[in-house]
Amino acid sequence: MNDLATGSDGRFAPSPTGPLHVGNLRTALLAWLFARSAGARFLVRVEDLDRSRVRPGMEAAQLADLRSLGLDWDDPPVRQSERMALYEDAIARLDGEGLLYPCYCTRAEIRAAASAPHGISAADRYPGTCRGLTVRERAEREAAGRPPALRARTEESSIAFEDRLLGRQEGEVDDFVVRRNDGAPAYQLAVVVDDAAQGIGEVVRGADLVDSTPRQLLLYRLLGLPAPGYVHVPLVLGPDGQRLAKRHGAVTLSDRLAQGEDPEEVLGWMACTLGMTEPGERVTSHDLLSRFDPERLPREPTVWSPEPAEPVN
Ligand code: GLU
Repeated sequence: MNDLATGSDGRFAPSPTGPLHVGNLRTALLAWLFARSAGARFLVRVEDLDRSRVRPGMEAAQLADLRSLGLDWDDPPVRQSERMALYEDAIARLDGEGLLYPCYCTRAEIRAAASAPHGISAADRYPGTCRGLTVRERAEREAAGRPPALRARTEESSIAFEDRLLGRQEGEVDDFVVRRNDGAPAYQLAVVVDDAAQGIGEVVRGADLVDSTPRQLLLYRLLGLPAPGYVHVPLVLGPDGQRLAKRHGAVTLSDRLAQGEDPEEVLGWMACTLGMTEPGERVTSHDLLSRFDPERLPREPTVWSPEPAEPVN
């Protein structure tokens, strides 16, 4: 396993693709509580590399929501779109060591070649088609005008790690993309480069990202960087068990405020779902610092409902 980065410096790294819902905000609250209760730094990073999904105004709206809930951060937020040189440098280092190869496959081809489902869904798991291409085969594909993605040449098939909340986790790694065929650095690469460059000691994020962690740990190893600790916190789901979304009702902070709640009531609701307050209690982020006990956090997702939350024991 990798050397662990020291310290508990934390971060919240939203993608400005839409308004944050109460589940995203609860993850932000937890990330803040983990860092601040340890007396550590807390940073915000705007993950805006997927230009086709970024929506104008969302970055400002997301930061305003965090402030309204009393979550503060050190240093001005950084934007991934302004850090391209760092990602390119990491890609060049990996490529220089022969750890990457160009891949000309389309999504449809990967899907067609995919076999049985695994931790990485069958449709996403890369079957290695371009790994062994000869120089000539590469040249043919180049001549056909297909821009290649760059993939990591992965020797491991799975990587284990210790999650502070979930315990030992083990997940698959395949030859994943580090640079997309439109030239953009992939999420997996950018997040590792940034967490390392920003000195993040503990990554607290939603449990939907637990499957990404083995690939990120592999990148730390390939780049010779110390890996952080990980805490994957439970999600808030809609009443139908799906990811929380607009169709489920008043799920954003603005929705809640428009319904007459204030930020302290919304925080109280979030904290109640985490077993930290009684139903209906209003709290500030700082009230929660003294009550925060990572050992007592739930491991299961919360099902969102517009009704007051039941306390968790
Ligand atoms: N930007 C990612 C998201 O909004 C989070 C990445 C992370 O926390 O590692 O889902």
